[in-house]
Amino acid sequence: MSNSDFIQVRNYINGEWIDDKGAEQLPLFNPSTGQQIGQVPLSGKEASTRAIASSHEAYGSWRQMSVGKRVGYLFDMRQAMIDNLEELAYAIALDQAKHIGEARGEVQRVIQILETACGIPTLIQGDTLENIAGNVTGRVIRQPLGVFCGVAPFNFPALVFGWFIPFAIGSGNTFVFKPSPQSPYFMQKMGDIFTQIGLPPGVINIVNGDHAPTLAWYDDFKVKGVCMVGSTPTGKKIAAAAGASGKRSMLLGGAKNYLVAMEDVQWDIFIQNYLNSCYGSAGQRCLAGSIVAAVPEVYDELVERIVAASKEISVGDAMDPDIFMGPVISAEAKARINNYIDIGVNQDKATLVLDGRNPDLPDQNKEGYFVGPTVFKDVTPEMTIVKEEVFGPLVSIMKIENLDQALQLIREQKFGNGACIFTQSLYYTEKFIAEADVGMVGVNVGVPAPHPYLPFGGVKDSLIGTDKVQGKGGLDFFTQSKVATIRIAPPSDNRHMSEESATCQSESSNKETRSCVAS
Ligand code: NAD
Repeated sequence: MSNSDFIQVRNYINGEWIDDKGAEQLPLFNPSTGQQIGQVPLSGKEASTRAIASSHEAYGSWRQMSVGKRVGYLFDMRQAMIDNLEELAYAIALDQAKHIGEARGEVQRVIQILETACGIPTLIQGDTLENIAGNVTGRVIRQPLGVFCGVAPFNFPALVFGWFIPFAIGSGNTFVFKPSPQSPYFMQKMGDIFTQIGLPPGVINIVNGDHAPTLAWYDDFKVKGVCMVGSTPTGKKIAAAAGASGKRSMLLGGAKNYLVAMEDVQWDIFIQNYLNSCYGSAGQRCLAGSIVAAVPEVYDELVERIVAASKEISVGDAMDPDIFMGPVISAEAKARINNYIDIGVNQDKATLVLDGRNPDLPDQNKEGYFVGPTVFKDVTPEMTIVKEEVFGPLVSIMKIENLDQALQLIREQKFGNGACIFTQSLYYTEKFIAEADVGMVGVNVGVPAPHPYLPFGGVKDSLIGTDKVQGKGGLDFFTQSKVATIRIAPPSDNRHMSEESATCQSESSNKETRSCVAS
């Protein structure tokens, strides 16, 4: 690659690109080839403190701006994302190595979220209750709080931007965002868009690094709330620090998702959804299927069909539209997933029916970080590969007696993000929706990701706290309510009032409220 292609990731603070030259630089790799494509500064607390100050400064006038004008920036951001869709998708496919088709889909989903957030003037309207008492009205208004800060995981560099920022800034807050150091390139492109649409400096700041920038969040009174999408241990650390400093938090954690096949499974639907769910993004999705539970009537055929279809999966460069599955994010991730395969083999309970440890690769991808589709059959619930989040294309198939057993396994699992059932039965469908102990349920759907109008988030260890992204709650998180109790005092000389209402008003303010209400 030429020097001009080398990506020097920069911070975007107060509308300017800043090279954090003093910070340690982390090499940025293309996971499809293993080649270094750039470097990312591991900025510290100081860069974050500066960004928070800038966002605080911007908050004053941003909050005062009419809601229509504020939302106008979201309209412009949406249009700019449409105009630059290919470039944005390329950025995701390069450093995160998400398959180019899926990268386009991720950008399109953010555009849909922006469209939802453009409805903020309607969505954040408050409530009024008149006649609480004579001439007394109660009014609830929703207001922004100030500066929010958030971090993204490596696997959704665009989507998590969409989950936090349009709702936060559309409702009048400002935001300091820290992308994952493993996939920062998309936000570099977004910074250019913020400048292009004339977003006032400081409304969105970008600070790069790992956890150090987040240390500036907790003791700073200017920061009103923090958000994270990432692993559960990281979420719990942020929850503890945010709780200790009295800040609100919205934290989505790790996952392990069941696909349940009943005796009336429709094979075409199941296999297509299985492939997308388990191998899309190389299994690095919080809604990826990783355990398949099937009843005895279909178990053998299911194993056979899964293995046959998985063998057809092409593995290669994320930029190649003809391949199905790209690499995992890093050499460490590849080693971790391969280690889970070893553990699965060594526990000597299940059978490895498809081994992804050394997939066939095109020559230019031999140094990339690839794990091929991997399938174990006859797994049991106590196995490590069933209990822990692998976050790769490793699937465990287990036989279950019936739906009740599947529901019990899902209930006993520490994670509770998603679960899907494949059936034509209304009875199974309704029972599964009612009883699966997860936040997002799919019926004949392999990735039960809710649309932007609806809440997204799990339960148990997949959600730390109670706040989910998207939907009404995702917007409520970024606002606080205030209730006004208003008694309308009559003009002192009653000059402009009819005799009847003047009598009523003056009685009400002279403790005879009840007779006025009654009249
Ligand atoms: P991670 O927890 O390692 O990192 C997430 C972010 O937190 C990164 O930006 C990282 O730099 C930062 N970070 C790391 N340590 C921190 C600390 N102590 N304090 C503050 N910030 C810190 O996660 P990852 O490997 O980037 O992403 C994969 C994980 O994210 C998986 O567990 C996956 O299930 C989860 N995820 C969940 C959802 C969901 O909707 N629930 C969506 C996407 C990803």
